[in-house]
Amino acid sequence: MQELTNDYLEEAIQDSRPFASSGNVNMSLPEYDETIKDYLGVTIITTDGECFSAGDNDKYIPMQSTSKIIGLMLALQDFGKERVFQTVGMEPMGDFFNSISQLESYDTSKPFNPMINAGAIAVSALIKGQTVDKRFNRYMDFLRKVTNNEQLEMSEEVYEAEKANGARNRSLAYFMQSTGTLVTDVEEALDLYFRMNSVMMCCHDFARVGLFLAKGGLDLETGEKLIPSHHLRTVKAIMMTSGMYNSSGHYAVEAGFPCKSGVSGSIIGSSPGRMGIGVVGPAIDEKGNSTAGGALIKKLSQDLELNMFGVE
Ligand code: GLU
Repeated sequence: MQELTNDYLEEAIQDSRPFASSGNVNMSLPEYDETIKDYLGVTIITTDGECFSAGDNDKYIPMQSTSKIIGLMLALQDFGKERVFQTVGMEPMGDFFNSISQLESYDTSKPFNPMINAGAIAVSALIKGQTVDKRFNRYMDFLRKVTNNEQLEMSEEVYEAEKANGARNRSLAYFMQSTGTLVTDVEEALDLYFRMNSVMMCCHDFARVGLFLAKGGLDLETGEKLIPSHHLRTVKAIMMTSGMYNSSGHYAVEAGFPCKSGVSGSIIGSSPGRMGIGVVGPAIDEKGNSTAGGALIKKLSQDLELNMFGVE
């Protein structure tokens, strides 16, 4: 097995960076343009506390869909598995992440899973708090503890862009109101969802989320258990089956550990008991996954023997 070192990670970045050319940068995000197309960075933090980084690991990008796993953890904390999965399914979906037709075809009472937009908006509606501000503050408090980064903030510019480009998400939310899936204030659920998407993180922060899932849900600074292990198990299983949009099956086969990506080019990987992986690579494919980042995840899986289903 390949030894994990900074030099090895630099080489892995060099090997994977060319895959950026086959992707496109999501131009609807502020400060996203062709100049960042070749960015690729990674941080890995092992469960015994070693940290390795390479490439553009210090670049901050919006969480986008990686926020969906944090939202799901909070909803599971607030309502438990049974209630959450009365609102949203746990089945993978072959359509695009913002698909509207699937809301009618599966089960009109719920979206397929919490990793697609409709599911994540329904989950946002469950997060407890009297106002959107209070609910978002809970999200940020939890995220700052998980990442051990007090400086994390939402980008106002990204948030404004999310709202301005949010017609599809509004459609999903109002459709779910019509079917009775969303019973709380629709605009508030959307507002929380847009804010959660707009938090800026770098590779180290993404890796810390992966590590949190890999290492029993502990606040690593205080030793406090922030979330029960059975909820972590649920989140990781859903990442494995639905975390990489409608390429999740491909990543289950080729990487074989739970990952969640976002259209900003972020990827959170969690190798249970071993490591958290944070990747930033803004060029994405048509399904929404970082092209260079995805290649890197598959390479790491092979070289570091991370496939949970067995190694060669
Ligand atoms: N913010 C975008 C949306 O809600 C994309 C989220 C993502 O898949 O990363 O449509």
